[in-house]
Amino acid sequence: MEREIFAIFGNPVSHSKSPLMHNLAFRGLKYNGVYTRYLLEDGNRLKEKFLNLKLKGINITVPHKESAFNACDKLDSFAQKVGSVNTIVNKNGLLYGYNTDAQGFLKAIEEFKDIKNIIFLGAGGTAKSTAIILKENGYNLTILNRSPKRLDYFKNNGFDSFTFDEFKIDKDFDLVINMTSAGLNDNNLPAPLSILEKLIPKSKACVDVIYGKQTPFLKLAQKHNKPTKDGSDMLLYQGIIAFNYFTDDRYSFEEIKGFMGGAFGWFYNLKKDSQ
Ligand code: NDP
Repeated sequence: MEREIFAIFGNPVSHSKSPLMHNLAFRGLKYNGVYTRYLLEDGNRLKEKFLNLKLKGINITVPHKESAFNACDKLDSFAQKVGSVNTIVNKNGLLYGYNTDAQGFLKAIEEFKDIKNIIFLGAGGTAKSTAIILKENGYNLTILNRSPKRLDYFKNNGFDSFTFDEFKIDKDFDLVINMTSAGLNDNNLPAPLSILEKLIPKSKACVDVIYGKQTPFLKLAQKHNKPTKDGSDMLLYQGIIAFNYFTDDRYSFEEIKGFMGGAFGWFYNLKKDSQ
């Protein structure tokens, strides 16, 4: 088999862990593929660049997931519904688009048992696709956001949605999830402490989509002795599912995880060594 070339397209793209994740899996599984990164400035040129570079598949990160959606010849039904694509595979000259972010998120959430009511803190792009997949899988979801504008999408799709000021707690939430970027490059909590101090004690667990760091939100959850999970599993699982699309379902989830998961151990050890 001729070597297949894959890439991540984004802007910025230098920080992405995807090349490490996919190359570990290619090497471990002895698949003749290589994965690189490509700084794409103009989303309208995504398809042209993809074809000129003779790529077999790509992942797409911020800010090009909608451009990726528009570049595809065929879309799987979920990607079609959410209007956002993070994985494209070239099959006989046609570009097939998928959204593995939401699928990876669902898989990460399913590892918590007896979860029914979930609350999202935040209403950005990640919250949109993950909200739809949770609804499709029978979870009850409430959305809470700092400002009203982004809540329109959720209201239009039938979710209970509130700003912090409007919110009145009338039930317990099994999972509290930080979907904001609060805590990524600052020490902010995703919602006022007065709200979090009511939600977290009644929850079964707390999740942050930010990965690789202990955010103030996760620290607060741990103070309340709650099980927590950061965004690493979501990132790993979206990668595994994308790898499956890239390699035509040749390997099991666990086989891929065995190698791709090394990207996280390695990263963690490197960070520890450099401290
Ligand atoms: P967006 O820019 O689309 O949305 C940002 C959201 O965060 C908005 O709801 C915004 O509220 C809210 N927000 C930002 N700062 C604060 C603050 N200080 N207090 C309260 N709310 C705040 O972001 P994305 O959806 O693209 O990304 C969200 C997070 O998800 C990021 O941290 C990103 O790193 C992470 N992520 C993780 C992935 C993974 O694989 N683990 C994959 C993709 C994303 P408002 O509307 O009021 O501005």
